[in-house]
Amino acid sequence: MYSTRGMAEDEGEGAIRNRVRQNRVRLWLRSERAFGLNFVPVPLQRHGAIVQSNVAANSPPPQVADDDERRRTTTITPPRFGQPSTTRNQQSSSLSSLNAAVEPPRNTAPIKPLVPMPSAQPFDAPTLPREDKARRLTALDNNEVRGCTKCRLCETRSNTVFGEGDADSKIFFIGEGPGENEDLQGRPFVGKAGEMLNKWIAAMGLRREDVYIANIVKCRPPGNRVPMPDEVATCTPYLERQLEIIRPKVIVTLGLPALKYMANDPKLTMGRSRGTWREWRGIRWMPTFHPAYVLRQYTEETRSAVWSDLQLVMKELGMKLPSKRSS
Ligand code: URA
Ligand code: SF4
Repeated sequence: MYSTRGMAEDEGEGAIRNRVRQNRVRLWLRSERAFGLNFVPVPLQRHGAIVQSNVAANSPPPQVADDDERRRTTTITPPRFGQPSTTRNQQSSSLSSLNAAVEPPRNTAPIKPLVPMPSAQPFDAPTLPREDKARRLTALDNNEVRGCTKCRLCETRSNTVFGEGDADSKIFFIGEGPGENEDLQGRPFVGKAGEMLNKWIAAMGLRREDVYIANIVKCRPPGNRVPMPDEVATCTPYLERQLEIIRPKVIVTLGLPALKYMANDPKLTMGRSRGTWREWRGIRWMPTFHPAYVLRQYTEETRSAVWSDLQLVMKELGMKLPSKRSS
């Protein structure tokens, strides 16, 4: 007959003594645990520091696009030395960290920043003749931008909006992104904001065909929302190649997103930045208001601010200043 009891009875005296000893040890361990004495906290800062210093050494600092972005950027915070563990969960996670502390760090590959640092180097290649510039721009549009699916904006666009104008232009206007009309026509600044921009160009004594106009993103953000940092980061290599091909004498950014991108500084404000020359990769650059903003804030103050910025541009290019503005 099988009986557990019978089996125990079959044990010899030595085996029983062993068992009694084991039980004592078990009871002692239990009492230790009840007093929380079997968990020895270990300083874990070193492990976190290793991961962090690897990131710092191997990758450029991420460009933090805005406050939300900064909030989303997480750092590994190891438990503090000497903190008592109060719950079983905390204890077991601390114990697994304890193991991690003695093992070599596993994931030390450099973390790719969400928004890579744009280059600040001036372009050094010689400028091309107008026909070559035009050919390269057309190739970039046809071969890369038109079919681009690199970011989510491709899912909702009707057309990409590459940009247009004189491939050899001295002035390059940079807007934010296509709106509804631009998305439907595949051309930049053809809606209400475009009418305003056309007036500014005319006030400078130029025709629209004399300048070049493009945006920081080539596809319309749904509902005309501001392009997200990752969309800007994905799309702006196209803009930079346009600028590299055209090599204008002067860049004019229209609005805050273009200003922030070109300056690589999410904290800039338009009020404090417009009207002052900056430089982008060796090219003189003037930030000014977006025409859509001026349409919303159609005051003497904003209109004359834009006009004064455009006059600075004209002066820089040695253009004759008209006696009065036309917008
Ligand atoms: N607003 C922009 O920023 N770009 C356009 O092309 C049209 C409106
Ligand atoms: Fe490509 Fe730019 Fe359009 Fe995104 S916005 S799909 S990166 S062209």
